[in-house]
Amino acid sequence: MSQAQGTIFIVVAPSGAGKTSLVAALLQAEPGVELSVSYTTRAPREGEVNGKSYHFVDRSRFEGMIAEGDFLEYAEVYGNYYGTSARWLRERLAAGHDVLLEIDWQGARQVRKVFPEAVAVFILPPSIAVLESRLRGRATDSEDVIARRLSEARAEIDLVADYDYVIVNDDFATARQDLISVIRCQRLQAGKQLSRHGDAIAAMQSPR
Ligand code: GDP
Ligand code: ADP
Ligand code: 5GP
Repeated sequence: MSQAQGTIFIVVAPSGAGKTSLVAALLQAEPGVELSVSYTTRAPREGEVNGKSYHFVDRSRFEGMIAEGDFLEYAEVYGNYYGTSARWLRERLAAGHDVLLEIDWQGARQVRKVFPEAVAVFILPPSIAVLESRLRGRATDSEDVIARRLSEARAEIDLVADYDYVIVNDDFATARQDLISVIRCQRLQAGKQLSRHGDAIAAMQSPR
C-alpha cells in the first residue's frame, strides 16, 4: 500500500499568547509530530539554539534564499523576515510525517493556498491585558518590540474566524490538552486510519 501523506498543522497566535510554550508541550506529548524550524533574520534570544529554535541567518542570505525559491512561504513580521523551508516540509510530508508550522497569519494564508487541507489553529490569550503581562513577564523583548507586538495583536485577532480551531490559552494545562485533542482528532479521521491500518482492517472484514 502506498504511504499516506502527512498532515500539516499550522499554529498561529499573537506574540505572547503562549504558542511556543504550547507547541513545546504538544511535541513532548506527541513525539510523532515534527516541528518545522523556520529561518529568520531576528537576533537569537537568550537560550535560543541555532538550528533548533530557528535557523538564524542574515538579511542577505535570507534574500538569496527567496531568490532561489527555497521558501514555501515567507513574511516580514515585526521588522524581521521569517520563512519556512519548502524542501524540508515536502520531504517530511511525503514520508508520511505530520508536521507543525509555528508561523504568523500571513504565512498561514500562503501555506493554505498551496495546501488547502492544512489544519489551522489559532491560540487566543484570555485578554489583551494578560497578553501584555505575558510579553513583559517573558522578559525577552525590548519595550519598543513589546509595543509593536501589542499594537498588531488586535489586527491578528480580527482574523480568528479564518481558522479551523480556536484555543483560549488561559489555564495552560487545559490549553495544552485542547491542542493535543486537535491533533489526535485529525489523526483519527477514517481516511487516515484506513491507510494507516489498511491491512489489519481488511483482515477483519468479510472476504472479497
Ligand atoms: P519563547 O521565548 O517564545 O520561545 O517562549 P517559551 O515557549 O520558551 O516559554 C518560556 C517558558 O515559560 C518555558 O520554560 C515554558 O515552559 C514556561 N511556561 C509556559 N507556560 C507556562 C505556565 O502556564 N506556567 C508556568 N509556570 N510556566 C509556563
Ligand atoms: P508566543 O510563542 O506565542 O510568543 P510564549 O510561549 O513565549 O508565547 O508565551 C509568552 C509568555 O507567557 C511566556 O513567558 C510563557 O511562559 C507565558 N505563558 C504561556 N502560556 C501561559 C499560561 N496559560 N498562563 C500563564 N503564562 C503563560
Ligand atoms: P518570534 O520572534 O516571537 O519568535 O516570532 C514572531 C512571529 O513570527 C510569530 O508570529 C511567529 O509565528 C512568526 N514566524 C516564525 N517563523 C515563521 C515562518 O517561518 N514564517 C512566517 N510567516 N512567520 C513565522
